[in-house]
Amino acid sequence: MSPEKRLEFVLDLVNGKFDDLRVPGRLDTLAYEIEQFLRIPQGQAIPPGVERSAATLQRGYIDPIRARIMTLLDKGEYEVDLEKIRLRVSHSTGQPVSWTGIGYPSALIDWQLAAALQDGPMHKLRRCERVVCGKLYLGRPKQRFCDLKCSNAEQQARYRARQRRGSKVKGA
Ligand SMILES: [Zn+2]
Repeated sequence: MSPEKRLEFVLDLVNGKFDDLRVPGRLDTLAYEIEQFLRIPQGQAIPPGVERSAATLQRGYIDPIRARIMTLLDKGEYEVDLEKIRLRVSHSTGQPVSWTGIGYPSALIDWQLAAALQDGPMHKLRRCERVVCGKLYLGRPKQRFCDLKCSNAEQQARYRARQRRGSKVKGA
């Protein structure tokens, strides 16, 4: 995952893009993506013995990450205590060094989240100006809405508001 993709993944979690985890396969896909993001072995996002459900991912990953990002955006900073963390760093001749986290990865969430925020293009971070949306996204310098749908909806709303004002004046 590139730094930009990693940051986008964080924003997807914050935006609730994965809310409907009851759709078949989606839970597994998200668990796998979380493992990639945290750099933990496959199958560890929901360790054996822990209920394999949307609520587990929500409580364990989505909610904490969303809370940290919202605090960061509202207050400009957040602080966390990291729990015990165990890394396995491996190397064999001629191969790149790789590392993985071992055990329940609560500390890795904060570690990898902080790294993703530092390495990713946070200067591109925008919040969609359409009030009912408010989605976080990486945008171009003067971009105001997350996508064309929001941009069009906002334009239509403004057009209707202008028309309403116009008819009031006429009726007065
Ligand atoms: Zn939007």
